[in-house]
Amino acid sequence: MQEIDYIVVGLGIAGITFCEQLERNNKSFIVYDAGDTTSTLVSAGVINPVVLKRFTPNWNAKLHVETSIAFYKGLSKKLSIPLLKEVPMLRIFKSVEEQNNWMVASDKNELSDFLYPEIIKNENSAIYAPFGFGKVNHTGMINTTLMINSYKEYLRNKNKLVEEVFDYNILKEEDETICYNDLKSKKIIFSEGASVRNNPFFPPPPVSGGKHLLIPNKGEYIIVNAPNLQLNEMIKSSLFIIPLGNDLYKVGATYSREDYSIHTTKEAREELASKLAKIISCSFNVVDQVAGIRPTTRDRKPFLGTLKESNNKVFYNGLGTRGITSAPSLAKELYQYLENGEALDKEVNIKRYYNW
Ligand SMILES: Cc1cc2nc3c(=O)[nH]c(=O)nc-3n(C[C@H](O)[C@H](O)[C@H](O)COP(=O)(O)OP(=O)(O)OC[C@H]3O[C@@H](n4cnc5c(N)ncnc54)[C@H](O)[C@@H]3O)c2cc1C
Repeated sequence: MQEIDYIVVGLGIAGITFCEQLERNNKSFIVYDAGDTTSTLVSAGVINPVVLKRFTPNWNAKLHVETSIAFYKGLSKKLSIPLLKEVPMLRIFKSVEEQNNWMVASDKNELSDFLYPEIIKNENSAIYAPFGFGKVNHTGMINTTLMINSYKEYLRNKNKLVEEVFDYNILKEEDETICYNDLKSKKIIFSEGASVRNNPFFPPPPVSGGKHLLIPNKGEYIIVNAPNLQLNEMIKSSLFIIPLGNDLYKVGATYSREDYSIHTTKEAREELASKLAKIISCSFNVVDQVAGIRPTTRDRKPFLGTLKESNNKVFYNGLGTRGITSAPSLAKELYQYLENGEALDKEVNIKRYYNW
């Protein structure tokens, strides 16, 4: 039997950020990851503090953005890879009214640090933006594929990664110890993203037929080649256009609560290509398409912590549409709760579900 502090199930951004807390605090751990349906791999990895539809700050914007930028810089250094690109985000204005709303918002205390208080003129003839752009400060993008692949390699080299499906049926809890195969662990962290719906320890849907706690939300991107677009910034209009380099752009994403498969669809490809054609005037070719499932929740807040049944089976899930941005700060909060007895914020504590 190998005695360790933690078993971690799932190595998306939730798993990675929690492993980093464990490493910093010299805790021993083993990760199980099936490597199939990761939302983190598919994500464009945009760090953005503002809701660009309404010009309001995101939930805990300042804390999440500051912590995540510092976290990804640190991880880049640790793994010696270029993870973070601090690229500006430009929001295309649709009207003079939107320009005015932006200027009013940029004057508000909670947004003044994020919204550049001038209208940026469009000088790129391949983009339709007669009313110009609003520029968001403190934005960036993470190369999530590079992050996942490099982090796996890092764990493999330390013999801390088991690349297989975790089998919930053989997990036992004896005298407050988690037993799994030849491992004895003080705690187990379940960070399986939307697949947590297969976890028998996660709360089931209400018997009355109400909504499951974890609501999968499928998102698809197309990758396009557009040599004449010549764009260095991220663009937000009816969709995001994210420059990947070499004339490639990630364009999307879609939102669907109907289809839980991870297959790409013709409908999404056509929808995204038709929206893109209304934003740019140059030609483009769709060269690839990806799909992932966002782990969203009923109240749009994550699920952190333990249920009444066990103090050692811990959930870190529900990262929703902005997990890349919020995970570094949430992992810290979860670790402080588990190891230092600090209270979890009520709005992220999974125990709130008992009141639903
Ligand atoms: C299309 C799309 C675009 C997005 N864009 C952004 C963005 O720009 N910015 C942003 O902040 N967020 C974005 N998000 C949201 C963000 O990607 C998610 O919130 C986040 O990736 C969720 O991470 P996770 O670790 O919880 O889950 P995942 O990344 O899905 O990871 C879960 C892991 O658990 C493993 N697993 C599951 N079950 C088992 C098991 N039984 N045994 C072993 N392993 C298991 C899976 O294989 C997977 O590797 C986007 C999401 C999507 C889908």
